[in-house]
Amino acid sequence: MLYHLRGKNVLITGGGSGLGRSIALEAASRGAQVMIWDISAEAGEAVCTEIRQTGGEARAMEVDVSDRSAVRLAASRCESVDVLINNAGVIVGKPLLETSEDEIAGTFDVNTLALYWVTRAFLGGMISRGHGTVVTISSASGLLGVAGQSDYAASKFAAFGFAEALRAEMRRGRTGVTSLTVCPSYLETSMSHGVSTRFPLLLPPLRTEKVARRIARAIEKRHAQLIMPSLVRTLPVARAMHVRHFDRLMDAFGASRAMD
Ligand code: ADP
Repeated sequence: MLYHLRGKNVLITGGGSGLGRSIALEAASRGAQVMIWDISAEAGEAVCTEIRQTGGEARAMEVDVSDRSAVRLAASRCESVDVLINNAGVIVGKPLLETSEDEIAGTFDVNTLALYWVTRAFLGGMISRGHGTVVTISSASGLLGVAGQSDYAASKFAAFGFAEALRAEMRRGRTGVTSLTVCPSYLETSMSHGVSTRFPLLLPPLRTEKVARRIARAIEKRHAQLIMPSLVRTLPVARAMHVRHFDRLMDAFGASRAMD
């Protein structure tokens, strides 16, 4: 048992599955009191049950993080939060002209605007207590344009900008609050599954538990940015890979290669 987060209240949005679930389990194993906000009540409860079975503490609330009044209400029912993990996310994964207006707006509502609603609900408390950590899960697609992800990539570029600006603002104000950005590349989760059936992926997927452990270590060390895997090192490879993705995507949709 690790106790680095002992007694800390850790709130994870979208903690009911994928990376959020792994972060919830990892935080609980490090002694945190875990709170999960998920749009799926069943998914959140199932993760809490897993945590309790191993002797950890966890509670779940059904919250749509894109709904401002629901976020305000849920926050008023929570204790103070020491570590906020902005993790809830959605992806459409279609070429721009095949993505509906509602799908585009929906991606920004969850992946970008919700960061503001949830973070603002807890930031004042963190500043007045003089400590707190906000972790924003962006994406490798928040650093690099990927074919078929114009809405997702833009929403994650914005998430990266949000977290970096927050970090600068918190540091300038000497608030004791830290903002971390995490840019994982391809993870094997329910979100990526639908996309990877359309995009045959050329990189081996990252394991969510491994990423969750690295995030927990980054929280302890208060590292500002975590890019996984070392995308900077593999950037030329990543670019080549995405060009190939584009070709395959166009093939898959029967579109002309001349569009490239
Ligand atoms: P990944 O872990 O790859 O980001 P998943 O789809 O496995 O992807 O997990 C995303 C989680 O975010 C899910 O548990 C999902 O229910 C949750 N989620 C999606 N939209 C919302 C929302 N509007 N409010 C709260 N949770 C959400």
